Amino acid sequence: MSFQDKSIQCSDCGTTFTFSAEEQELFQSRGYTNEPKRCPSCRQARKSERYGNDSYSRNTPRQMFRVTCADCGKDTEVPFEPRTGRPVYCSDCYRKVRLSR
Ligand SMILES: [Zn+2]
Ligand SMILES: [Zn+2]
Repeated sequence: MSFQDKSIQCSDCGTTFTFSAEEQELFQSRGYTNEPKRCPSCRQARKSERYGNDSYSRNTPRQMFRVTCADCGKDTEVPFEPRTGRPVYCSDCYRKVRLSR
């Protein structure tokens, strides 16, 4: 079976990225069955976040951004910088929105 480049929308930032044939092959050879959900830069960000966690993030709180939930209008904080033109949700609504996709 041969692989073909695939376009996937990042679940974090919404960017469409290419899941290339080589990457799919690599994924399969490592036994991963799920497609990546995030674009390479978000994956990278996640990774460094995770590594940073144990060592120093206890003293360095994550930067939070104040936003108004696009669904219920509640004030909330998100750990990423909201992009203009993209709705931001509080954690409750975010869960709902994700599930309904
Ligand atoms: Zn992304
Ligand atoms: Zn909400």
